[in-house]
Amino acid sequence: MCRLVLLGPPGAGKGTQAVKIVEEYQIPHISTGDIFRMNIKEGTALGKKAKEFMDKGELVPDSLVVDLVRDRLEAEDCKNGFLLDGFPRTVYQAEELDKYLSEKNLNLTKVIDIYAGEDVLFERMIGRRVCKNCGAPYHIKNMPPKKEGICDRCGGEVYQRADDTEETVKNRFEVYNKQTKPLVEYYENAGNIVHIDGTIGLENVFASIVRIVGA
Ligand code: ADP
Ligand code: ZN
Repeated sequence: MCRLVLLGPPGAGKGTQAVKIVEEYQIPHISTGDIFRMNIKEGTALGKKAKEFMDKGELVPDSLVVDLVRDRLEAEDCKNGFLLDGFPRTVYQAEELDKYLSEKNLNLTKVIDIYAGEDVLFERMIGRRVCKNCGAPYHIKNMPPKKEGICDRCGGEVYQRADDTEETVKNRFEVYNKQTKPLVEYYENAGNIVHIDGTIGLENVFASIVRIVGA
């Protein structure tokens, strides 16, 4: 049974690790970013609201996020655990998650903080690409798809997210430092956070996670 939260600055590789973690532990991957992008793609009311904020690199308001995650955690497939990726992102969201879990008498198994310096992350993000269809992550330098612009996994179109452009990336770092970084201390006080260097290579990061989370 694993209830995990992935924390870390933009570009730290949360999405990449998330895909491996959910395969290893057979738990659902709950990415609020993916949920919003799906809603944008489908043109829902939520998607339209979220897009305004996302395109600028701002956070979507807490009120739009918290209920969404609560509902998702109610689903049957979360009974045996889950991986939260990109949530919580504010202290308020973390408090709401704690409230929800304590109502259910549950705990977080671990909060996994993947950290790295901003200069490294900036490079990574500017080169980042993603499959429009299945969400598989790529990088023009470090991890290009075998055929340019085409997903190895599903053949979908590989593109640059609107929020991965230079200006937006800068803003996302500011937002992270101001609103999300305080969560590191929040979970430090709770005593269940672990810190993993995000620059040691994808496989090594993953191996560290498995070592810490266990079987
Ligand atoms: P990252 O690549 O930084 O991990 P995500 O894909 O998780 O980005 O999220 C992309 C955008 O979606 C964020 O910049 C933000 O606008 C919005 N978003 C995602 N999760 C949340 C959340 N928990 N609270 C508020 N906004 C969120
Ligand atoms: Zn794909």
